Amino acid sequence: MITSTLKILSETDKEACEIVKVSEEELTVDKKRLFIESYGCQMNFSDSEIVAAVMRNADFATTSSEDGADVIFLNTCAIRDNAEQKVRNRLQQLNNLKKKRPGLVIGVLGCMAERLKTKLLEEEKMVDIVAGPDAYRDLPRLVEEAETGQKAVNVFLSREETYADISPIRLNSNGITAYISIMRGCDNMCSFCVVPYTRGRERSRDPFSVVEEARQLFAEGYREVTLLGQNVDSYKWKSEKGKIKPQDEIVENENVTTVNFAQLLEMVALVSPELRVRFSTSHPKDITDDVLWTMKKYENICKYIHLPAQSGNSRVLKLMNRTYDREWYVQKIDRIREILGEDCGISTDMITGFCTETEEEHQDTLTLMEYVKYDYAYMFAYSERPGTPAAKKYKDDIAEDIKKRRLQEVIAVQLKHSGERNQLALGKVHKVLVEGPSKRSDADLCGRNDQNKVVVFPREHYKKGDYVHVLVTECSSATLIGKVVEEVPA
Ligand code: SF4
Repeated sequence: MITSTLKILSETDKEACEIVKVSEEELTVDKKRLFIESYGCQMNFSDSEIVAAVMRNADFATTSSEDGADVIFLNTCAIRDNAEQKVRNRLQQLNNLKKKRPGLVIGVLGCMAERLKTKLLEEEKMVDIVAGPDAYRDLPRLVEEAETGQKAVNVFLSREETYADISPIRLNSNGITAYISIMRGCDNMCSFCVVPYTRGRERSRDPFSVVEEARQLFAEGYREVTLLGQNVDSYKWKSEKGKIKPQDEIVENENVTTVNFAQLLEMVALVSPELRVRFSTSHPKDITDDVLWTMKKYENICKYIHLPAQSGNSRVLKLMNRTYDREWYVQKIDRIREILGEDCGISTDMITGFCTETEEEHQDTLTLMEYVKYDYAYMFAYSERPGTPAAKKYKDDIAEDIKKRRLQEVIAVQLKHSGERNQLALGKVHKVLVEGPSKRSDADLCGRNDQNKVVVFPREHYKKGDYVHVLVTECSSATLIGKVVEEVPA
C-alpha cells in the first residue's frame, strides 16, 4: 500500500500519493459491481477491505474500474482541508458519470462523511449515501434504500463496533504484507484533530480475533502484518468472565482478564517467527518500556516506531493538548535508543505554523529534529478543521506564507537526516522481506528492512515473500541499494 512507503513529502505530494483505487477484478457477470476508492490514512485502506467484505456478503463483486460499476464508494479523509477538496473534485467528475448513468449509486464513506453528515447531501446533490466509519455493516441496506431513489444516511458512532468478526477482503494486495486493525476511534483530544469526532470513542478489538487473522494471513502466504490503531499503545482489551478461550495455545493462563498492547504484540509475534510484525501509530504519552522490551525480545517484531511529536516546543504542545512536553518526548526517544539501539528506525509527524507559534518555537521543532534525526517524517502546514478545540479556542493567526516557509525548513532538515540515516546503512547486511519487482526495473526486486526502509537489489533467482540478506552499497535519501549475500554475518 502506498501510504506505508511515503517518506519526505510535502502535504500536497503526500495526499496525491495517498489516493489509491482499492479494488480488484472479478469476472462474475450476474453480480452487482462495486468500485471503492480510498483516501487518507492506513486505517481507511484497512476499512475499505472491511467494506468490500460486507458488500461481498451482500452479493456484490468488487471491480477495478468505475466503468460498469453499479455502486461507487469514496472512502474519505477529513484531516486537512485539501483532503476534503480532493474528494469534492472527484465528486464533480462522478457527477458527469451519473448524468450518463442515472442508476449509478454514489456513496461517501469515512471521516468526511461523518464530519459533514447530511450537510454533504445538501452540498453535493449527486451523493446518494453518507456512511460514517461505524456504519459499514449497514451499507447493503443503505444501497437498497438509495436504489429506490431515497437518500440514505447512517453516521451513528458506536462504542462497541470493532468489525472483529469480519474477515477483510485484501484489495490491491501484494500478497505479502497486510494491515490488521486492532482498535478503532481515539480518546485523545489533540486540539487540531478531527479524528475523535469522526471515528468516535476508542475501542479495542478481541485479541483472539487479531491473532486468528494473523494466522490466517500467514497460512495464505502473507509474511508481514501491521497492527493498526490511532493510538496502539493504549490498546486494552478486557475479557468478560468466561470469554477467554482456555484452549488457545498462545494465552495459556486461563485467569488472564486483560490484554495490553505489549501482550498483544507478543501474541501476534508468536504466530510464526517467519511473520514480521509492525505497528502504527504510537503516542509518546502511552508507549511503555514493556512494548520496547517486547520488541527487543522478538526478532520478527520490526525495530521501527512511528512516534509523532507534532512540535518541538512545550508551549505549542500544550496548546495542541498532546499531554506531553518536549522533555518527556526526548526521554522517550532516549529510552527507545537505550533498549533497542541506535539502529531502531523512528519517524514522526510535524505540524508547522500552529496557532500563535513564534519563530523561536518553530526553531525548537528544528532542534528537536536535529536531536532525534528521524528516518522519515510526515510534515504539514497547520490546516484548521472546523469543530475542533483549536478552531473554537485559538486564532489560526500564522500567515499561509509563513506556515509554508517553516514547512520548507522542516522538509529540508528532514531530507538531510533521511540521507544521513541511510548513510549509516551502507556496508551493512540487512534482512529484507521481498515485496515484488522494483518500480524502476523488472530486473530488480524491492522489499523493506527492519527499519521500514525500501531496499532494491538484483532479482537473480529470488521471489516475492522470500527473506534475503542484502549488503547495502549505495543509497539515496529514500532508498537503499545493494546485492543479496549468502553469507550472513553472525
Ligand atoms: S492521538 Fe491525537 S492526533 Fe492522533 S488521532 Fe487521536 S486526537 Fe488525532
